[in-house]
Amino acid sequence: MRYISTRGSAPVLDFEGATLAGLAVDGGLYVPESWPRFEADEIAAMAGLSYADTAAAVMAPFVEGCLSREELRALCEQAYGRFSHAAVTPLTQIDHDQWLLELFHGPTLAFKDVALQLLGLLFERFLTGTDRALTIVGATSGDTGSAAIDAVAGRENIRIFMLHPDGRVSDVQRRQMTTVLSPNVHNLAISGSFDDAQALVKAMFNDRPFAAQHRLSAVNSINWARLMAQVVYYFYAAVRLGGPGRPVAFSVPTGNFGDVFAGYVAAQMGLPIAKLIVATNVNDILARALTSGDYSSREVIPTPTPSMDIQVSSNFERLLFDAGGRDGKALAAQMAGFEASRAMRLTNAQREGAAGLLVADAVDVDDMTLAMRWACEASGETIDPHTAVALAAARRADLGRTPVVTLATAHPAKFRDAVERATGRRPALPSRVGDLFDREERYDRVPATFEAVTAYIDARS
Ligand SMILES: *Cc1c(COP(=O)(O)O)cnc(C)c1O
Repeated sequence: MRYISTRGSAPVLDFEGATLAGLAVDGGLYVPESWPRFEADEIAAMAGLSYADTAAAVMAPFVEGCLSREELRALCEQAYGRFSHAAVTPLTQIDHDQWLLELFHGPTLAFKDVALQLLGLLFERFLTGTDRALTIVGATSGDTGSAAIDAVAGRENIRIFMLHPDGRVSDVQRRQMTTVLSPNVHNLAISGSFDDAQALVKAMFNDRPFAAQHRLSAVNSINWARLMAQVVYYFYAAVRLGGPGRPVAFSVPTGNFGDVFAGYVAAQMGLPIAKLIVATNVNDILARALTSGDYSSREVIPTPTPSMDIQVSSNFERLLFDAGGRDGKALAAQMAGFEASRAMRLTNAQREGAAGLLVADAVDVDDMTLAMRWACEASGETIDPHTAVALAAARRADLGRTPVVTLATAHPAKFRDAVERATGRRPALPSRVGDLFDREERYDRVPATFEAVTAYIDARS
């Protein structure tokens, strides 16, 4: 399989190259040159497979030429063996046609583990025995940081430097990062906001000599391998609900458009998906883009669903590329316009290419709260605020008797205060992370300046 950039002028890479590169050098994102297709009988044959076997079957065409089927299967066994539920991503029925797909049984209780646990192993597999080492730098307001740290802790030829805003992440989120004591893990508490931390990371990537000297790499969802790993659970869930014979709809709490784009990929690969509901909070740039073609960035409004508080959605570019006819040159010009003015209009081709499959819905805090209460009362399920946004959209989508699967992206204990405010119930931390508050922490406070952060990294590389 070969990978091309959405902006048409970066080198074509194989799977290993695309995984290690992250962003393409022309500023675009890597996508497979064409979508592999499964026939209906091949999908039906996934019915009895374990999660790891399903993962190996679904991802095999994407890694062709870089990993054998046996190697891929072994990596999947290792990555998903760390999940606390034997089904890895179990389905729970909450109403006649409503289901939850629980994606939070990984080590850090967030759906990001599903992709990052595999990505950490892929990095290690491609770097071990070479003289190449990667330095991962990232900024986090909570979830991504802990999932990324857990995924690469102790792995060979990789170091990670994670910046978080000092005093502005929850105790649970900070401890999930700072109690990982492996020597290749470095937590920096930055004296500033999340935006300051993110600006520092950007500045490091833009400093070409620094970025090249340290082989900087990112683990955010622009990395193709992350999306690829997320395609798997769409197949796994649909097959368990009668696919490919019966089409299934999915409702996805959306921020950077990574998770829902994985569903779009599953549909391109032949999985019968009736609809993909793109559920946003009041930061509704994606809902506006998909309903009226207006992709324009506004101020971010803070909500109880911080992982969806975005005004630019990096993976949306992949949809615009594929749905709009795969014209890299035209997309490069369109994106340059957006980067200059923070606004653009989708072309008719882009809108029509998305319209059959994707519908969007923006959910406010009141409707999110009602969905959390409804889940409690109707089925006894405690759900996190992000999941509740998607469940609210799923319940008001008019899809007849089609089964609707809401992706449950975080364990409710990660957002205990918001859950308690909405439902009166305070979810307990699962026992596997229950001793979080007794473990030793390690992190350094670092001033929010480029000089201080780069000196810190230089001294530890
Ligand atoms: C990251 C995240 C999301 C958003 O996923 P995208 O792939 O960025 O759209 C939703 N919910 C939770 C809990 C998350 O951590």
